Amino acid sequence: MGEKKKKTVKTIKIDVDKCNGCRACEVICSAFHAAPKYSSNNPARSRIRVIREPLRDIYVPVYAGEYAKAECMGRDKYTIDGKVYEECAFCRASCPSRSEFKEPDSGLPLKCDMCEGEEEPLCVKWCLVDALTYEERVEEAEEEVNIEQLETGLESLVNKYGLNKLMETVDRMSMSKKG
Ligand code: SF4
Ligand code: SF4
Repeated sequence: MGEKKKKTVKTIKIDVDKCNGCRACEVICSAFHAAPKYSSNNPARSRIRVIREPLRDIYVPVYAGEYAKAECMGRDKYTIDGKVYEECAFCRASCPSRSEFKEPDSGLPLKCDMCEGEEEPLCVKWCLVDALTYEERVEEAEEEVNIEQLETGLESLVNKYGLNKLMETVDRMSMSKKG
């Protein structure tokens, strides 16, 4: 078992009930990511999109996650507090079945980068009704084995003791571990 190391997971908590569909989050996200920065704003380039159905009072802010190569098979519906949501409303993927989270000129997938370099995500800062909250949590992650270091270490043992001796020792150790 590898050693556990800590990693920080950054997320944005979304309160659908507080969102009023103002789209300030889309404006600031697309402006921040414009080249040069703040030279334009075009929500189609935003990494957060608000799924809006004003007649049914439905506003779902979703920020872009990983790219999905293929569209998924299921299209479930969810009823929450009497409102019916399509499954896609909550999905964070840039996927072939919809236009959200694609760079309009190139079609390349867009992904939220938590406004790299800023103190806090700008969509969170610009949401005046606190529908978006920035959260960080620390999780334990399995440390990956560094294969290069492992091979260098094994090679020096082989050079010192010979391959047969090393194999015998590994066999003996694994037998004693098994029990
Ligand atoms: S800024 Fe806040 S209230 Fe406005 S659309 Fe975005 S999440 Fe909703
Ligand atoms: S955190 Fe930044 S990059 Fe991510 S959706 Fe919000 S404004 Fe866009």
